[in-house]
Amino acid sequence: MRRVLIALLVFVLLLVSFFVFLLVRYNFFLAPLTEELEYVQQSSEVFDLGVGIKFYGTDFYVVEKQGVKIGFDPFFSHQNALPLLFNADVEYDSVKQKRYKNDFETLSHLFVSHAHFDHCLDLPYVQQQSANAQVFGSKTLKYLFNPYAFEVSEVKENVWYNFDGFKMMAFLEEHPPHLVNHQFYSGELKQPFDEPSRKVNDFLCGQAYSFYIIFDDSTSLFFRDYTNQKSKVQIPQIVEQKGADILLTGFGQKPRSSKNISELINMTRAKVAFLGHWNCFVTKQDNVFIPGSDTKEKCAYIKEHLLQEQTKVIIPRMEGVYHF
Ligand SMILES: [Zn+2]
Ligand SMILES: [Zn+2]
Repeated sequence: MRRVLIALLVFVLLLVSFFVFLLVRYNFFLAPLTEELEYVQQSSEVFDLGVGIKFYGTDFYVVEKQGVKIGFDPFFSHQNALPLLFNADVEYDSVKQKRYKNDFETLSHLFVSHAHFDHCLDLPYVQQQSANAQVFGSKTLKYLFNPYAFEVSEVKENVWYNFDGFKMMAFLEEHPPHLVNHQFYSGELKQPFDEPSRKVNDFLCGQAYSFYIIFDDSTSLFFRDYTNQKSKVQIPQIVEQKGADILLTGFGQKPRSSKNISELINMTRAKVAFLGHWNCFVTKQDNVFIPGSDTKEKCAYIKEHLLQEQTKVIIPRMEGVYHF
């Protein structure tokens, strides 16, 4: 009986590996981001927010406003899918490192939603390129990057942090399951690492946070990785009350996510909403969607359910720069 089970398991593993191999090798099912999909909703409204946003894929955004430059979820070293299944060492993308060398010089702060590798892998590089940017994240993030020369400040929830040019409040969030109620790399680290780890299984989720930013001229921004919640979308009360001019969130893969994205945009009354985390980061090919989502249908649904006609809703391109 046990032998049969093991054989079955090996067979399933081989099948999955083969599938992933095909996926990576031939880019099966990887639909590209087209111009038609980039603007889920476009409007002629010109917002004078004085904000510039550069998108580096997944949830990595750099936001610049009046000399203030902050980043979220630094990750650009896309991986090959297959080795990840076997807890391989993650690889850093040296080509992109060279290309982005001067992008992060004036970054003052980095906010990290959680410690999965697709949200923090390039933190050491980005932090090193900056003039000692302050990093905020969970205890797990702090433990994970303990061996490095910079320090992660363990974020406190529901309190204002005052910085030069803006203030920030973090909220505890629940990371949604990836697949059929399963979350990969769940749990948290119990003690600090002594040496840097590149094993993908060490990037445990830890606590997850969203961040609310209010710049000195009262322009506001809400960053939340995901939108896949169980039934009705909930956002922190203060964000709901005050609203957010800019919303940075994830495109999500579940059918439910289109409903929740439109709800989230409506609740924040965002003028500009970015739907990141859409790109397949387990292939080296840029500007292709994570397989398995009916992007066109989802975009149509989101657009149809938006309450504000002037809101711009954007699926940002890799390395795209947007000004509002
Ligand atoms: Zn995650
Ligand atoms: Zn993620």
